[in-house]
Amino acid sequence: MGQNVFFFSKERTDGNATMKELLGGKGANLAEMSGLGIPVPPGFTITTEVCGYYQDHDSTYPDSLREEVAGHLKKLEAATGKAFGSIENPLLVSVRSGAFVSMPGMMDTILNLGLTDETVAGLAAKSGNERFAYDSYRRLLQMYGDVVMDLKPETETDHDPFEEILEALKDEKNANLDTDLSADDLKELVARFKAVIEKKAGRPFPQDPTEQLWGAIEAVFSSWNNPRAIKYRQINDIKGLLGTAVNVQAMVFGNMGDGCGTGVAFTRDPATGENRFYGEYLMNAQGEDVVAGIRTPLPISTLNDEMPAIYAELIAIRAKLEAHYRDMQDIEFTIEDGVLYMLQTRTGKRTAAAAVRTAVEMVEEGMIDRKEAVLRVDPDQIDQLLHPMFDPAAEAQAPVLTKGLPASPGGATGSVVFSAAAAETAAAAGRKVILVRTETSPEDIGGMVAAQGILTARGGMTSHAAVVARGMGKCCVAGAGELSIDYANGQFIVGGKIVKAGEAISLNGSTGIVYKGDIRTIDPELSGDFGMLLEWADEFRTLGVRTNADTPHDTAIAVKFGAEGIGLTRTEHMFFEGDRIVSFRRLVLAAETVKRLRVDKEIDDLTELQKACEDDKAAVDAVRQYKQALQELLPLQRGDFEGIFKALKGLPATIRLLDPPLHEFLPHDAEGQKEVADVMGVSADVIREKVESLHEFNPMLGHRGCRLGIIYPEISEMQVRAIMGAACNVHKSGIPVKPEIMIPLVGHVKELALQRELSVRIADEVLAANGLTKSEIPYLVGTMIEVPRAAVTADEIATEADFFSFGTNDLTQMGCGFSRDDAGKFLKDYVELGIYDKDPFQVLDQAGVGKLLAMACELGRKTRPDIKLGICGEHGGEPSSVAFCHKVGLNYVSCSPYRVPVARLAAGQAAIRG
Ligand code: ADP
Ligand code: MG
Ligand code: MG
Repeated sequence: MGQNVFFFSKERTDGNATMKELLGGKGANLAEMSGLGIPVPPGFTITTEVCGYYQDHDSTYPDSLREEVAGHLKKLEAATGKAFGSIENPLLVSVRSGAFVSMPGMMDTILNLGLTDETVAGLAAKSGNERFAYDSYRRLLQMYGDVVMDLKPETETDHDPFEEILEALKDEKNANLDTDLSADDLKELVARFKAVIEKKAGRPFPQDPTEQLWGAIEAVFSSWNNPRAIKYRQINDIKGLLGTAVNVQAMVFGNMGDGCGTGVAFTRDPATGENRFYGEYLMNAQGEDVVAGIRTPLPISTLNDEMPAIYAELIAIRAKLEAHYRDMQDIEFTIEDGVLYMLQTRTGKRTAAAAVRTAVEMVEEGMIDRKEAVLRVDPDQIDQLLHPMFDPAAEAQAPVLTKGLPASPGGATGSVVFSAAAAETAAAAGRKVILVRTETSPEDIGGMVAAQGILTARGGMTSHAAVVARGMGKCCVAGAGELSIDYANGQFIVGGKIVKAGEAISLNGSTGIVYKGDIRTIDPELSGDFGMLLEWADEFRTLGVRTNADTPHDTAIAVKFGAEGIGLTRTEHMFFEGDRIVSFRRLVLAAETVKRLRVDKEIDDLTELQKACEDDKAAVDAVRQYKQALQELLPLQRGDFEGIFKALKGLPATIRLLDPPLHEFLPHDAEGQKEVADVMGVSADVIREKVESLHEFNPMLGHRGCRLGIIYPEISEMQVRAIMGAACNVHKSGIPVKPEIMIPLVGHVKELALQRELSVRIADEVLAANGLTKSEIPYLVGTMIEVPRAAVTADEIATEADFFSFGTNDLTQMGCGFSRDDAGKFLKDYVELGIYDKDPFQVLDQAGVGKLLAMACELGRKTRPDIKLGICGEHGGEPSSVAFCHKVGLNYVSCSPYRVPVARLAAGQAAIRG
């Protein structure tokens, strides 16, 4: 191991912003700011490598560490002119965690370390401010007690022992706020805090500053593996980090009186992205007071009135930091006796709307270029912008309960729960809930993820609830101060109204208004900036983006979102609608008989077949019923396709022939079978027997896909006739049409050859009947590649295919051997064990299934260099899979309508990254 400790000060700084992996984000940026000449209290950073060592070596440190820390402490004493443990002039420090990626509130910080019964008196004398000295000491006792000596509340309903003591004392002293407590009150508080530590921890608070320091360092390192840190990393998919760094930094004091304060700010509005300085501060307060919601902070603009010089300095630093980092920053500052210090800067977390707006505006401001702007926005995050908002008409009617701060935008409706655990349970049972808390803490993360939205009674725009919700893109209303929450009775009261757990409320995170009851939601639109950013992504991307859509409605949404065609229309859904299911069931009931007759009599044509069976009434009926069902379905299917072609306005449409096994169209329970029998005028036994005869042990590998069209060619014929008939009609109405007929589940080239011959024959017949030619309606016939055998014989398959579309859902199922219906039970464990990095049904397994895909592309192109290649599995809208598709050179990805913008952005990014 190299250097374990890095120093930062005005005079000398070892690290810089590029060293985040080693120094953590906080440490690297403290070093960078020091290097830029921004006022930062000096300190030093113990590396993440030491944390890695600590975990691997049974909670011990590298041999040299104690010495290195002692040496840096000396340097810190020199830089500050104070001495650690000195009574006359004590050096106090903060001990702060900070990993490579910021994990807000996940690991604990200790302030005012170095205070003891002796040094506190020294600090009081030196500052001439006894109240301040004891205020600092009681804070240290609380933080140290919580973090190092394990006095944290154990369960959600438990109270923090320190908070209880503080509240009791405030009651005794008739103090409203903690700032109302006098020096003597605080001395009393210190005594009570020390007593509770000794009682609960079984040992006294350490009076040796060096012991305090090492206790704190150890607590930070071991906090890396505390349950809430682990949970945070899981939720945010943070893997492969060594650990956290520890920052030891000279204290500056915002709690020394009226010329002092502390605050947090964003260089732009993190909710909307507007280019304005945005933040909150508290006078006479320290560190966490602002985020913890102890007192309600003031908006940063009022600092301009209270301390104009400081405000001007902050504005200058804001400009300097943005220009330097070329991105929106989230900063912490403290004012000590009229002197400003910066304590942190990092890239600010922002809503999707803010991410888009800042990216676009920073291009307009000349700060970044278009490529960078496209790369700035996380494709997964823009999902937020595509989610429904409240219908304004419904919202206008809804009864208002109260108003809080608009902490994280969007609309959310659900029933009230009062604990994270309850939210998780309800969500697991499929219920939509709103988590209502006085304030949230990192322990609530699981419940926040599970809830539709979060409502808090206390805390500002930078409170835990607000920051975390924005990061998650979850609707949040914070600091609704009129709310009085009664956890014990499972209810809250606001304006005299009682709302109980389980009752519905709605939150508008953009206005802060809380409503009683449900509110209807509506679909979003692409806003100006968002549209612009996506156009920039389009400029760079080479991968096409299509959509999976089965209806004109979905098609129209996707086209509005920028889809360049349909990559998959599933025709089976169409057979379930309205009366069609009756026709289709008739067809299913007769199909097997017709097939047998066809083979027995060696007659393919149904009319001829019917004639040949004349003396067998049951046979004639079966053929007639089959024929009639097909005739009924044909115009309905044609109508469906006409709607889709019209909505596409000339864009291509890949339409897949029938895929699921026939028994899926019949009910499997007795009651359902009886109903169907009644509607169809047959006995329930007929239906039951049919279901039994069609039964399959493993339907996913059964009689489905092209295997249906091969055994029952009339079904494929009807579908191709409907597709081409619709194409001709829409073409004649003046709208160009590009149908692509897709044969599913091909494994052998001969399967495709049979279905292709059929498709071409029917298509040409329909064209001729309409007086049209293939040059007017240039239809294609291709196949899905979803059976591994097809992927490895893609060179043969390509002789019969104009295009391939990778059906990666089935390809994953068959390639990995994971049943889509059953793998859910163990795949989560597989991912936790690290066997697969991600669920391969969500994120393409590039090493395995991806290899099949890449191989099929190569083989396919060898046979047919101009073969069209696309993907239509769920992976087509997942950013890392989209990047893979770009790499192997697919022509397009296809995904659900709401994922189209996500895929456009991801494809643009993939092209830029090259
Ligand atoms: P987090 O990662 O949870 O934000 P921090 O380490 O940034 O934790 O610290 C918590 C709070 O304490 C912040 O408000 C920070 O500005 C403040 N703080 C940390 N170190 C010092 C210091 N040396 N002097 C004054 N305030 C500090
Ligand atoms: Mg911080
Ligand atoms: Mg499939």
